[in-house]
Amino acid sequence: MTIFSKIVAGEIPAYKVAETVEFLAFLDINPLAEGHVLVIPKKEIDYLFDLDDETYAGLQIFAKIVATGLRKAIPCKRIGVAVIGLEVPHAHIHLIPMNNVSDLNFSRPKLSFTPEQLEATTERIKDALRI
Ligand code: AMP
Repeated sequence: MTIFSKIVAGEIPAYKVAETVEFLAFLDINPLAEGHVLVIPKKEIDYLFDLDDETYAGLQIFAKIVATGLRKAIPCKRIGVAVIGLEVPHAHIHLIPMNNVSDLNFSRPKLSFTPEQLEATTERIKDALRI
């Protein structure tokens, strides 16, 4: 079971920002920017491009919805999109509020926020998605 499946199952905590029957979005625990979100299919498939067409399309549409809320919640030029997947073998899309191209550089040191800050960011994103 991947660490993301454990989040889906509620076995480990996460800062969840959006959820449907099939998909989940939550804050990346080692973010490159405030509001760095991961969107995943609940179905445990390692490689994004191994998803069946319906799940893949659904995930992209879910990512679009989350990105729209994210952009309202976190001041930024754009929401950057990245797929890496070298660390966690469970398909996921990174959504990263960005102002510069370097904001998407995964070799950079990750940021660290307090639980209170992460909770506040989660609420801001959830509020933006409710509107
Ligand atoms: P990658 O598989 O290379 O796309 O990287 C996996 C991403 O998942 C990294 O950015 C990690 O910070 C993030 N990550 C790993 N474990 C967790 C977790 N328990 N909760 C939230 N994000 C996580």
